[in-house]
Amino acid sequence: MSVKIGQVKMDSAELRATNHESRLGAVCFLTLGCKVNQAESEALAQLFREANYDVVSSSEEADVVVVNTCTVTNTGGSKSRQAIRRMIKAHPDSIVVVTGCYAQTAPGEVLDIEGVDLVLGTQDRGKIIEWIERVKRERRPQNAVRGIEDAGEFEELPQLNEESRTRAFLKIQEGCNQFCTYCIIPYARGPLRSRQPEKALAEARKLVEEGYPEIVLTGIHTGFYGQDLNNGWNLARLVRELVEIPGLRRLRLSSIEPMEYTPELIDCIVSSDIVCPHVHMPLQSGSDEILVRMHRPYTLQDYRDLLIRLREKIPELAVTTDIIVGFPGETEADHLSTLNFVRDCNFAGVHVFPYSKRQGTPAADYPDQVPKKIKDQRVKELMAVARESKEAYIRRFIGKPVEVLIESVDSEGGAVGHTPHYIEVHLPKQKEITWTSRQLVQVVLKQDYLQR
Ligand code: SF4
Repeated sequence: MSVKIGQVKMDSAELRATNHESRLGAVCFLTLGCKVNQAESEALAQLFREANYDVVSSSEEADVVVVNTCTVTNTGGSKSRQAIRRMIKAHPDSIVVVTGCYAQTAPGEVLDIEGVDLVLGTQDRGKIIEWIERVKRERRPQNAVRGIEDAGEFEELPQLNEESRTRAFLKIQEGCNQFCTYCIIPYARGPLRSRQPEKALAEARKLVEEGYPEIVLTGIHTGFYGQDLNNGWNLARLVRELVEIPGLRRLRLSSIEPMEYTPELIDCIVSSDIVCPHVHMPLQSGSDEILVRMHRPYTLQDYRDLLIRLREKIPELAVTTDIIVGFPGETEADHLSTLNFVRDCNFAGVHVFPYSKRQGTPAADYPDQVPKKIKDQRVKELMAVARESKEAYIRRFIGKPVEVLIESVDSEGGAVGHTPHYIEVHLPKQKEITWTSRQLVQVVLKQDYLQR
C-alpha cells in the first residue's frame, strides 16, 4: 500500500496567506451504481467545495480522487475494483478515497488494492475531509468503515449546489429492514433511517430557488419513509408538502415497493400535476414460488391488482420495474411465467438483472444455482420482451403533444430531455428556436425524436 502525500503542498494557513481564494486543492469523483450514489457524490462534492476544494472532472488533475462504489451485484464489486484501479493509474499522485456500498461491505478487499489511501463506507461521510487530513498527517492508509447494523440516524450531508443539472436528487431516506434473500443492501446500508421532514423540505426549497425545475426523491426504501420517525410523517405526507413548494415543476418518485402504494400515496400521485405520472415498482420475478424464496412480501395477484388500481386512475401511467433472472431454483416454467407476466403488465421499461450471488446473503447458499449459460439465454429472452413492451408504451404518445424538460443542448443546437412519463426525447436544432437547459417545452412527439 502506498500513501501519496504532498499534493497539497502547503498547509491551509500558508495557502491562505498566498492564495487569495484559499483553494485547498482539487477533487474529482467517479460514481458507480444507483441514483442514491449520484446524490451522495453530489453532496460530498458540496462538502469539498465548502472546505475550499475545486471540484473538477475525473479527467483533470486532482489532489483527491473519490470513487463512490456499488455492490448490488458481483459485477458491481468487480466494476468497482476496476474503477478504483483505473483511477489510481490515472491519478498516481492523488489521495484515493473509496466510499459507498462496496467499500462498506468489503473494506479489506479495498485496502488491499495498492494505491488506496482511505476507505470510508456508507456512514460518517460528513467527516471525509477530517479523514483525508488524517491520511496526510499519519502518512498511511486508513480504514474508516464501522459496522452499519446499529446506524441510528439519517446522516445529513450538505445541500446540493450543482449548477449544470436539470434534475436534482433529493435523498430522503437511507437503509432497509426487509432483507430480501438476494440483496446485500441491508448489510451495506444498514437499517431504515428517514431524513427529518423539515430538513428534506428545506433542501427541496433551496433546490427550487436555485432553479431546478425537477426533483427526484431518492432513497433505498423510500416507500417506508417516516416509519422510524414515529411522528406521523410518511411518504404521502412528505409528497403533499413538497408539491406545494412554489416554483417546483416536477416531482418524480423513484423506486417504491409494490406493497407501499397506500391509498393516500396513490391519491397524491393522481391529484397532483407536479408529481410525474411515472412509478418504478420492482417486481423481481413473475413466479409466486420464486417471490416467496426471495422474501418478497406480495404475490403476482397483488401486483396485478395494484397495476389495475393505478391505471384506473391514471390510464397512461408509466410503470417501470426490475426483474432478477436466474434466481436459485428458477425453472424453465418460472421463467416462462415471468415472460408472460411481463408481457401482460405493459411496462414502460424493465431493468433486467441476471441473478448474481452476494456472499453473506441467504440466497448465495441456496442449492440449484442456475448455470450462467441458461441465465444469459433467459436474460436475452426477457430483454426482447422488455424492448417490445417499452416500444409499445412509447408508441401511444407519437403524434400527441408532450412536455419536455430540456436537460442538455449539444454543440449543433439539438437538445435532449424527458417527458413527465420519462420518455427520452431528442429534439433537433430548429431555425427559429434556441433550446436551453432547464427549459420546459411543448412539442408534438415524432418517431424521429426517440432514442435511436
Ligand atoms: S427491499 Fe429488498 S431489494 Fe430493496 S433494498 Fe431492501 S432488501 Fe434490497
